[in-house]
Amino acid sequence: MTRAEIVVDLAAIRDNVRTIAAFTGTPVMHVVKANGYGHGLLESARAGRAGGATWLGVAGVEEALALRAGGDSGPILAWLITASDDVAAAIGAGVDVAAYTVADLDRIAETGLTARVQLKLDTGLTRGGASRPDWTALFERARAGELDGSWKITGIWSHFVASEEPDETINDEQEKVFREGVDEARAAGLAPEVIHLANSAGALLRPSSRFDLVRIGIASYGLEPARGVSPIPLRPAMRVVAEVALVKDVPAGQGVSYNHRWVAPADTRVALVPVGYADGIPRAASNRADVAIYGGYRAPIRGTICMDQFVVDVFGEPTILVGDEVVLWGDPEQGVPSAQDWAEAAGTISYEVVTRIGGRLSRRYE
Ligand code: PLP
Repeated sequence: MTRAEIVVDLAAIRDNVRTIAAFTGTPVMHVVKANGYGHGLLESARAGRAGGATWLGVAGVEEALALRAGGDSGPILAWLITASDDVAAAIGAGVDVAAYTVADLDRIAETGLTARVQLKLDTGLTRGGASRPDWTALFERARAGELDGSWKITGIWSHFVASEEPDETINDEQEKVFREGVDEARAAGLAPEVIHLANSAGALLRPSSRFDLVRIGIASYGLEPARGVSPIPLRPAMRVVAEVALVKDVPAGQGVSYNHRWVAPADTRVALVPVGYADGIPRAASNRADVAIYGGYRAPIRGTICMDQFVVDVFGEPTILVGDEVVLWGDPEQGVPSAQDWAEAAGTISYEVVTRIGGRLSRRYE
């Protein structure tokens, strides 16, 4: 082991995708944007395909092109195309591109290439996608472009506001509005191959939202969209490990780390963990998260997490030595903290914890 690294269990990603496809009975789009949620773009993509993912989903064109350059030749959707993106390169590479507006369609037509286009409807998130008053014009332009050979409308899709909160009525409303949008598109003559709405939480918690495809991100990586919501067991694929760099005794009353935000209430022993916020460890978890040493011994973080290092309390434990393995987060079944634990300690979500990890840390695949 190097001083610290990100260990990714690719079999876990493969198995999670397979399990979710079986549980939902629906083809899976495995979402690999943001470097495969921090797990590595190409490696995560291959693992997802091995688990049966029929589609890959990314945000940007560059991510889609990197998948093609890495040898993936299957269906890919890129859903956030910006003005400076090389949309022609994506179309030329056979990537499905999202269109939100008539202007997006005009830009696709200008490439002169026959594109595969998926129309995004805004059903309430108020983010990307066509707002309802603009649907008619979008569908008409989409149909006209099909007739003149500019593109095939391959998909119609939308995205949930709060799918991890299944009791929120917005979920029902969005689903209803989405169905109306799909009906209107069909009435305009469009015949998309795939209709899709659900992300991980939608797919796991709302069978009615599954349609032809479920877009699975966080659950592919073995993490729940929110604590306790998954009806099926998932296996976390990421483990962040480091080695103890120093062990030292600290007397009662001694302050620890910058600004002494923790003061030892009694004599204790601390260990130094050589990773910090420059590596993506959330500084907001200072004085709040735990690590596991030896894969099991829980040691709480003391004081402020620094750029390259932080301090944990090993109490009087005499057996903890320089070089011992420290697990920051991994599979809680193995007695270590989870990314969700860290997210709660840092006041964020596990998505942010895993996508921000990196910095100087390398990834090792197992
Ligand atoms: N679909 C879209 C459009 C997304 O932006 C995302 C991620 O944010 C996903 C699907 C996957 O969401 P989740 O990771 O909750 O499954």
